[in-house]
Amino acid sequence: MYSWCDFTWNPIRGKCPHACVYCFMKDRDVGPLRLDEKALADSLGSGRTIFVGSSTDMWADAVRGDRIWQVLNKCRHYDGNKYIFQTKNPSRLFKSCSQNGGSRPAETPGFKAKWASITGKL
Ligand code: SF4
Repeated sequence: MYSWCDFTWNPIRGKCPHACVYCFMKDRDVGPLRLDEKALADSLGSGRTIFVGSSTDMWADAVRGDRIWQVLNKCRHYDGNKYIFQTKNPSRLFKSCSQNGGSRPAETPGFKAKWASITGKL
């Protein structure tokens, strides 16, 4: 568990297409990228800092856009939390948010989010 969040939530699971050599998930058999319906049904509560997508990049090009929106809509439903996203594909995150009326998640109406990104592979 990370000290800076209360909860890690992974509604998108599976083999991350970035395949970073240092990834803590790289030797695990996690199956193909998919929406985890069970995780999507989780109660997210309120007043929490939630790291969304600690085990794969939900913003990777290989993840279906409608799956991403299912995750974001769930976050919107539980809008008393702070959500932290991490991606190596920040252009998709920004594009998704700009299509929803904001250029950054924190500027998107109805969506309070902090975001973190790592650009490029190390
Ligand atoms: S982007 Fe993150 S989850 Fe994906 S392989 Fe790299 S370190 Fe792992």
